[in-house]
Amino acid sequence: MPEFIFASEVADLLPPALRGRPVVVAVAPHQSAKHAIEALGVPHTEIGAVAVNGQKRPISTRLAAGDRVEVFPRAPAAAVPGGETPRFIADAHLGRLARYLRFAGIDTLWKNAWDDAELVAIAVGERRVALTCDRALLMHRTLREGCYLRSRQPLAQLAAVARRYALELGAPQASRCLECNAVPRPVGKAEIAAELLPRTLAAFDEFWRCPGCARIYWRGSHWQRMRTALATAVRAPPATSSSNAA
Ligand SMILES: [Zn+2]
Repeated sequence: MPEFIFASEVADLLPPALRGRPVVVAVAPHQSAKHAIEALGVPHTEIGAVAVNGQKRPISTRLAAGDRVEVFPRAPAAAVPGGETPRFIADAHLGRLARYLRFAGIDTLWKNAWDDAELVAIAVGERRVALTCDRALLMHRTLREGCYLRSRQPLAQLAAVARRYALELGAPQASRCLECNAVPRPVGKAEIAAELLPRTLAAFDEFWRCPGCARIYWRGSHWQRMRTALATAVRAPPATSSSNAA
């Protein structure tokens, strides 16, 4: 039977009784490493590399009895100056995380009505990273990029996504619409005067309108609260995996 050695960064996804030691399990003839590892609870999206008998191998490698399989975590992305920022799709339970990401200007789709198959199809079709606390979703065969979130707290989730994808959250320049993900455009005060309260018009000079849902934005107290929350999330030390295991 093959023996699996999981790096500590992914070992928290194993059943508690299997953590902290090599795992020996029977596999069907010619079963792939991916299938065997996912059967133990670790989605392929969380794995950076697999070595079989000391040699790096694709995760689709077929296993034989007696193989020694080492499983390594996905390394966090390195920040690439001017590099392409990843785009995301968040599952139905992650509405607050999606709003934080949009506030930071990061392209994030979210609807509470998608089922898993629809979400995976959009993620694959648009090359988006699927964000979820649901490991089964990440085990969909076709899904290439996904991120398992260990915390249920939106700001801790935000910090985890920012670390893994080297996102710059500190200085949101052009936020996306919190409701629909479009990029709001500057709009003149005169154009929106009829739609806002006089005290809002008096207190602020810069306004933006979302081309997707027509919502108007300005940098009032809600904007300040979101900005403070983002700054706090960025400064927070990484949570240890052991204290957040689902
Ligand atoms: Zn909008």
